[in-house]
Amino acid sequence: MVSSMGERYFCADCEHDFIPTEGGDDPRCPKCARTEAVEPADVSPLQSDIWRQWLFVFALLFVAGIAYVLFE
Ligand SMILES: [Zn+2]
Repeated sequence: MVSSMGERYFCADCEHDFIPTEGGDDPRCPKCARTEAVEPADVSPLQSDIWRQWLFVFALLFVAGIAYVLFE
């Protein structure tokens, strides 16, 4: 099952966000006509979201560590 709706790709070469008009395994950037730098754009928001959550956890641990050192 392949849905063409919302299948976005991101070209890392020219930072162009696009939806490929013709389906295929190798989408081409309409701006610079490259295929090597094109990545699925759906993955990155989720990954950055997880990364942000981990950053929040590390920040909490860091603050807790400083508080432990200061108030020991
Ligand atoms: Zn491009």
